[in-house]
Amino acid sequence: MINVLLLNASFEPLAVVGLSRAVSLIMDGKVDLVEAVPGRELRSPSTRQPMPSVLRLRYYVNVPRRGVGWSRRGVLTRDHYTCQYCGKRLGAHEATIDHVAPQWHCRAHNIPPNTWSNTVACCPRCQQRKGGRSMHDAGLRFHDPNYEPKTPRTSYLVMTSSIRPEWKQYIRI
Ligand SMILES: [Zn+2]
Repeated sequence: MINVLLLNASFEPLAVVGLSRAVSLIMDGKVDLVEAVPGRELRSPSTRQPMPSVLRLRYYVNVPRRGVGWSRRGVLTRDHYTCQYCGKRLGAHEATIDHVAPQWHCRAHNIPPNTWSNTVACCPRCQQRKGGRSMHDAGLRFHDPNYEPKTPRTSYLVMTSSIRPEWKQYIRI
């Protein structure tokens, strides 16, 4: 699977996105190609273009440096609009947030439910299956066994993916 490093207009790394997200950013004219994957092409029946490895947004996105405030949208973005239980890609209309430790449990233990580490992107089907239980009680697991819900930071987003050689000049390792 090809991952693509997305840079801010300022050339700072913003995120690692999957190929389908990268292609839609290209199609929407939101990004410029910075580096391609050597020797690979993106082919459709009518076009051929370089396989993107690094893309740069045409507009600047203001990214808070630390202590990123929790938001529903932030969780969905962090999780690349992918259900963290079954791995399904989520359309904006079906994307929901699941509380890993259910909200009633948080309330009973005086823990804030809406935190980065307690919320993940979830599809309606898994949401229903989980039904207000803990992950363990519902017999659910994260689709990616290495996944841990965390506060999104640029360095975190970059480091969780295998790093392509073309990325190295844009990220600090
Ligand atoms: Zn799911």
